[in-house]
Order: sequence, then C-alpha cells, then structure tokens
Amino acid sequence: MKNSEKGLMRHLITNIALFFFAVFVIMVLSARENYARQMQQIDEYVDVLSSRTAQHVSDVFRDKHAAITSIAYLYGQSGHSESVEMEYLKALEESSGFDRIRFVNMAGESYTSNGKIADVSDRDYFIKGSHGESGYTVVMHSRFNSARLIGFYAPVFKEGHICGVMIGFLEEATMSDILKTDIYGYPAFTMMVSAEGESLGQYQVEELENMSGLTETLAYIKADSAEKVLAAAENHTECVFSFEGTSGKSTGVIQPVSGTDWSLFQLFPSEATRKMVNEVNMDERFVMLLFCMVFIFAGGHFVYYARKKAVLAQQNQNHGRMMSLLQSIADDYICLINVDLNTEIEEQFRIHRGDSITDWADGNYDYTHCIGEYARKVVSPIDRARFQSATKLSTLKEILSEQKDFYIEYDALVGGEPRRLQGKFTIDGNDRKTPRMLIGIRDITEQTEERIKAKTRMDLIVSAASAVYPFILEENLTQNQVHTVCNQGIVHNGLMEQLTMDEMMKELKTSIVNEEDYNRIYAKMNREAQLRAYERGERVMEIRVRQRGDDGRMHWMETKNILMENITGDIFSISMTRCVDEEIRMTAELEQAKDEAESANRAKSTFLFNMSHDIRTPMNAIMGFSSMAERYVNDPEKVSDCLTKINVSGEHLLRLINNVLDLARIESGKMELDVQAHDIPASLKNVEYIFQADTQKKNQTLEVKCDIQDEIAFFDMLKMNQIELNLIGNAIKYTPNGGKILYFVEQIDRKDGYAVYRCLIKDNGIGMQEEFRKKIFDAFERENNSVVTGIEGAGLGLTIVKRLVEEMGGNIQCKSEPGKGSEFTCTFTFRIGTKADLEDETDEDIAHVNVAGKRVLLVEDNALNREISREILAGKGFIVEEANDGDVAVEKVAASPAGYYDLILMDIQMPKMDGYEATRRIRNLPDKKLAGIPIIAVTANAFAEDRRAAIKAGMDGHISKPINISELNKVIISILKENESFY
Ligand code: ADP
Repeated sequence: MKNSEKGLMRHLITNIALFFFAVFVIMVLSARENYARQMQQIDEYVDVLSSRTAQHVSDVFRDKHAAITSIAYLYGQSGHSESVEMEYLKALEESSGFDRIRFVNMAGESYTSNGKIADVSDRDYFIKGSHGESGYTVVMHSRFNSARLIGFYAPVFKEGHICGVMIGFLEEATMSDILKTDIYGYPAFTMMVSAEGESLGQYQVEELENMSGLTETLAYIKADSAEKVLAAAENHTECVFSFEGTSGKSTGVIQPVSGTDWSLFQLFPSEATRKMVNEVNMDERFVMLLFCMVFIFAGGHFVYYARKKAVLAQQNQNHGRMMSLLQSIADDYICLINVDLNTEIEEQFRIHRGDSITDWADGNYDYTHCIGEYARKVVSPIDRARFQSATKLSTLKEILSEQKDFYIEYDALVGGEPRRLQGKFTIDGNDRKTPRMLIGIRDITEQTEERIKAKTRMDLIVSAASAVYPFILEENLTQNQVHTVCNQGIVHNGLMEQLTMDEMMKELKTSIVNEEDYNRIYAKMNREAQLRAYERGERVMEIRVRQRGDDGRMHWMETKNILMENITGDIFSISMTRCVDEEIRMTAELEQAKDEAESANRAKSTFLFNMSHDIRTPMNAIMGFSSMAERYVNDPEKVSDCLTKINVSGEHLLRLINNVLDLARIESGKMELDVQAHDIPASLKNVEYIFQADTQKKNQTLEVKCDIQDEIAFFDMLKMNQIELNLIGNAIKYTPNGGKILYFVEQIDRKDGYAVYRCLIKDNGIGMQEEFRKKIFDAFERENNSVVTGIEGAGLGLTIVKRLVEEMGGNIQCKSEPGKGSEFTCTFTFRIGTKADLEDETDEDIAHVNVAGKRVLLVEDNALNREISREILAGKGFIVEEANDGDVAVEKVAASPAGYYDLILMDIQMPKMDGYEATRRIRNLPDKKLAGIPIIAVTANAFAEDRRAAIKAGMDGHISKPINISELNKVIISILKENESFY
C-alpha cells in the first residue's frame, strides 16, 4: 500500500471513531428525554385505549337500553294480563342478554321469573318508569340477594296506558366482562364510577380486588394527582395521571362514558408500561442499529470510493508526473506511445513536431491499425516492408520475451521532410494485470549523420589496425564490459559481447590450453592488473601466448593492449591480437643460423688450434721425408723408406683432419642417420679383421664375443663402425704390448619389436686418473700429449664417439683405473629386423658385375684425383672419358648419341658448375634416353645427407672418394639392375 493510501485509511478510521462517539453521546443525552416522550406516548395510548373501552361501555348501555325498551313494548303488546306470566319472563330472561328480567307492576311489586315478588316502589327506576321514562340505574343492594346490579328500565304500555315497568339487570360478573381490558396480555384494572366516585362495577385485578371506590383506590396506588382525578370524575371529564405501580411508573385515566353520568377509571399495569417502553426502546434500538448499519454501509462505500478516489488521484498524479516527464524527454522522442497489451489499444502522448499521430490514427487507436497506417503514411517505401514485419505485435511480443528492448531504424517523411527515425519498443510487465508496451520514436537524423562519419573514421582505423591485428577487442575496464570490434583472426575467440572481463578471461581458457600461458595472460591482462598498470602510467601492454587456432593447431599469438581514458573518464583497453608464428619461426631460424655460425666458428678455431701441434707434426714429417727422398733420389731403398713414412704420416694427418671435420659436422647438427638392417655377428667379424694387423703388431689379443638373440637390427652401420674403430683403436693404443682387449656385444632386453644391446670394450692397459676420466669426452682433451706418451692422438675420438652414440639414441659410460685398464660401455636400442630386411646383394653379385668395355664419363675438376680415378676405372676395364667441370660434362653428354655413355661419375664441388646443377641439366635434355643416363655422385664423404642431396638432384647413387671398385659395383647393381649390359 502506498503512503498516500495509508494516510487516507488513518484519516478515515479516526473519523469513524469520532462519529461513533458522537452517536453514543447523543444517545445518552436523548435517553432521558426519550423516556418522558415515551411516557407521554403511553399516556396518549392509554387515553385512546380507555376512550375505546368507554365507547364500548357506552355502546353496550345504549344496546341494553334499546333492548329493554323493545322487551317492554313487546310485553305490553303480547296481550298478557297485568298479572305477571312467569313463563314468559323466564323466556325473556334467557334470550334478552340480561342476567335478570323483572316486571314491576304499578303497585311497585317486582316479579321474578321464578315467582318471587319484592317491593320496589321506592326505587328510582320504578318511579321514573311508572311515569313513562326509560333509562338505566344502579342498584347497590338487590332486594333479592343484595348484589350490585346495573339495571335498564322502560315503561310497559298496554292499550295506551302504563301498566308497569320492565327492567333488565346486568350482574357484577357480566359488567366485569364488559369492562375487561387487556394491555399486552396484562389485565388493566377498570372501574366504572359515579360522579361521586362510587364504584358501579369493576374489572378487577388481584391486588385491587377489594377497592370500593375511586378515593380508596387512588389512595392505595398513591396517585400523583388524586384531586384532579376526583374532579374529573365529578365533572365527567377526561383525565390522565401517573402512579407508581409494582413494576415502576404507570398510567391511569378517568374517561367519561358517553350517554351516562358515569366515568371509567382505568389503571394500566406497570408491566405493560415497561413492555411498551421496552418495545419503544427496542424500536429505537432497531432504528439505531439500522442507522448504524446504513452508516457502516455508507461509510464502507465512502471508504471504498474515497480510496478509489485517492488511488485515482495518485494515478492522476503519477500520470501527471509521467506526462511532465514525457514532456521533458519529448525533445528526445518525437512520439511516445503506450499500448495496452490486453486491449491492444494504444495511447499516444506527444508529437514534438511534424505530423501528428492523430493524422494517421483516424480516431481508431487499435495498435495494428495505427502502426499499419503509420507504416503506410510515414515510413519510406524502402523500409516499409521491413518495418511492417518487425512491428507486428506477435513478432514484437516474441522478440521482447527474450530481450529488454527492440530497436528499429528507418527512413521516414516527417512534416514533409525526409528524416531518419529510430523506434524503441519495450514491454513494461510491472503491472501484471495490464501489461503494456511502450514505444518511443526518436529522430536520429543528426546523430546518424555524425555516427556515419564517426563510424567511417572508426572503420578506417579498425580496418587499418585489423590488417595487422585481425582480432580487436574493446575492453571498458571501468564498466567491466567487453566488446568485439573485429574478429577475423585464425583463433576464433567466440563472440565477446555482453561479457565481463572475467567472463572473457574464462572464454580465453578454451583456446589457451597451456596452463602456464594462461596463468601468464591472466596475471597480466585481467581487469585489476590492467587498471593497476594504467595507474602506474603504463599505456601499452604486450604478451605472447600459445593459443589453439580454428585449424586445431597451436599458434603463437601476440596481444597488445593500448590503455586509454575516454571523455567520460572510463578507462579503456584496446586489445589487439595477431598470430606471430612466422616471427617466432624467423627468430628461431636466426637463432639457429647464429648457433650454426658460432659452431662453425668454433670448429674453425678448434681446427686452427690443433694445427699448432698435432697437425704440424705429421706435416713436418711429410715435408722432411719428402726433401730427404729428393736428396736420396738415386737411392731407391732410402726413397722407399721415406715414402713409407710419408704415407704413414699422411694417413695420420688424414685421420686427424677427418676427425676434426667429423666433429665440426656433428656440432653443426648436419649429421643424419642412415638406418638400415644389418646382421650384427657378420659386422663383428669385419671388426676383427680390421684390427687384426694392429693387435698382431703389439702382440695383443682381441677377443670379439657376441651373445644376442636378435641378430638383425636397424642401425647406421657407418657410424657404428666409427664408434667401434675409435674405442677399440684407443684400447689397442693405450694398452701395452701383450695386453688383452675384449669386445663383447650382448642383448640385455627386448620390447615391442626393439632390442637393447650393450657393447663392452675392455682393456687391461694404462687406464686413466679419475680426474681425467671425468672429462674424457670433452674435445681435445688428452691425459698426456703425444710428446709425453709418444702415442699420437688429437683428443677428438671420444668426443666424436659420445656424440655419435647419443645421435643413435644410446649412451656411453667409462670406468677406468690407472695401470689396470679401461672399460667403455655403450647401450643402444635398435628396431629388430628380419633377414628379408637385409639388402639382398651379395659379394657374388658384386663380383659378377661386368664393366668391361662400358664407357664412363668421369667428371672431376682436380687433375690428380682425375688421374687416380682414371687408373682405377681403366684397370677394371672401363673406357674412361673425362670432363674437368660440370658444364663440360653437360656439353659432352648433349653432343653424344643416346647410349654412347653407359655411366657418369660426377664430382660435386667444381668451380664453374657443381655436380648437382650439371645433373639437373642433363636430366632436362630433350632426348629422354640421353637424359636418363645413370649418374653416380663421387664425394669426399658418404654421409646420409650427401646421398640424399645427390638423389634429390636426380642422381642415381653415391660413392665416396677415393673410388672403391666394390662400392661402385654395389651402386651399379642397385641402379642398373634392369640394365643387362652390366652382367
Ligand atoms: P686421442 O686421439 O688422444 O686418442 P681420444 O679422444 O680418443 O683422443 O682419447 C682421449 C684421451 O683419453 C686419450 O689421449 C687418452 O689419454 C685417454 N684414453 C682413451 N682411451 C683410453 C684407454 N682405452 N685407456 C687409457 N686411456 C685412454
């Protein structure tokens, strides 16, 4: 209940209470007056009642008088004798209505019906009757029985003269009946009195039974004004008086009986009076009750209507307020409409300018009609259909059940002027009984123009920014709202509208799956963190995290937030996100290039450093023995000795250089594995052969043992050999003459198609100090240099071994004790292979390759190498033709007929055109047969990556320098299997 209504109720209740109090006071005050009035009313009533009784008595007397006159007449006419006939009197007595009938003859003798005679000559009725008068009389003492009687008499005429008097008596009991008067069931004491106040007959009540006359009775009842009453009886007038009865005050009356000298004296029982008063009071109470009921009813109505009026007044006030409110916002809205959704009738409030709504309502305010007319007359034809379908009441109800407002913009003609309008539709469901829809129509022409300009500017900025940052968010940090400005990135971040910052952060969690990344972005970019950053004066914040893109892959995304304050004082963050995969990749590549450069540099410095001693030593030997050989050119024995030493030093130098190059290669990360199936026991046999000469020289025993279940496995044989050569070579080197060396390969596990092998190389040589053992795998580390030990080495072997082992997925460990020996253990896990996986060529196949008479084009820029190769090839029966560069080779091939050359051996590094380019050109020759000639690369190294590069350039195989004929045959077999001419 509103306050105004409460006030009204209080006011009403106070008024009603005051009213009832006033009624009560009036009732109390009027009670006394009422009583007097009631008594007066009773007096009047009593008066009326007694006058009726008096009238009744008077009527009875008149009737009885008439009756006795008739009887007297009939008696005279009946022809009876003057003597009395008893029988006849008896008959008259029974039918006349009198208690007794007497005939008095002229002698004054009164005859009864039963023959009794009394002398009544002194009685007034005889005297008057015998003189021809008729009338009534009272006999106080009957001559027959002393009873008090009322008599009616008349003369009896016979043949014209009076022969007697006829008299009829009424006895006391009969009189009592005549006088009987009851009021409200209570008997009223009634006494007929003479002018002297003598009782002539009475209707008695118990208490006053013995009252003989008026004076006595008045005294008994203690009447207020006895004198007045006696005077009234005497004067034969009316008089009403009051007396104290048994049940309170009551009323008495003296009423003259007309036609007589007598009066009626009546006393009303006080009970009746009280009952009458009660009844009157009852009536009054009833009236009062009725009055109160009417009052309450009227009051209720009054309250109801007053309340209704107050509510209406309140509504009017609200309406007034709303109207003034509407007036005040009417500058914004050119039209305001209120639609009652129950009746669908609309109420229009205001038209600020231009067309009046009433112009198109035509007095029919049904919503559908009005909006239809509005669309037809005001909305531009271009927007009309859209407007009509959007403003259908059913459509609007559906839309507004899900959202608070609905806006529609359209072109319209207002006052003959084209304008841009915006309709806003809202449902006000506060009043459930009468839900209504409010429509506000705004003229947004100016704003639209401004907006279009601003939007165009903004669009330009956004499109410029989005070219770099395809995902742009506008985060109002003050209002805690997020709005998507642009969303074209590779990471779809959902539609971030109507979200809070926290909700947006939660949304991000779906694509930023890395927890550490998410924690970083949350810590830096949550609302509070950004606001704090703004306070610190930061204006740009940046972060890079990994995010899952729409393509399902992870991308590096960079988010840059620009913090600013707008004119309303809100702190904004324009958050721009872009994918930086490419940048990260380029940075990584740069890093890698840098690393590579550094590692190359390192290798170079290492190489140069080692030149100082280990390389110079064999170089010096070569130089020294060369000049010695020159000096002893004529001494073949000496020359041969010098050449042998030159050869040994050369081999050592080559090994050294190869090691340095290998390490550099490994460190630059260029090494690739060439994994193929190999038979392990067979390869171990080769190891034994290789070291046979060395061990024999030092009188050492090399035991090669093998305990494996899976003999065939996939691994890089070349690298495995390098490892074995280094480790066994060291064992031989650092074990004195007569020592023992063990190479034991065992299988320690097998799981899911993979076998684990352990290779143990153990010697009982010089061993190592613990200090040194810890760093044996570092490059150029030697416990003692060659100057001290006389054992050659560069300290690179174990470094290479360790890298190779790790490259092959294994690990290496070393145990050693000075003077007792050393133990190297390598563990590898290789995929298990079968016989079928082994390359099927056999030495026999290789031996059967028939190269005699085959023409080979040897492409090599180095004349010395060319000479060596030519010698080897020619020695095996090849017809050798030469080209000293790639371009020459291409020319020669192009000029030759198809099938002229059977094979090309192509060097890779050449000054004018390298082997790859030359191969590509040959392969592109128009003659397909010519272009398909087999080409085999000949390079310094036979690493897997070199082979791949050769194949990629279009070559058919790859061999290393210097040319090894069995290796060449192998390649020939693999590439020329179909070419029968080689067999
Ligand atoms: P080096 O060319 O000097 O042999 P390595 O890298 O192969 O270079 O070996 C490094 C050093 O480790 C050696 O100089 C030697 O002192 C020590 N070493 C290697 N193998 C053994 C071994 N089996 N017994 C004793 N010392 C060894």
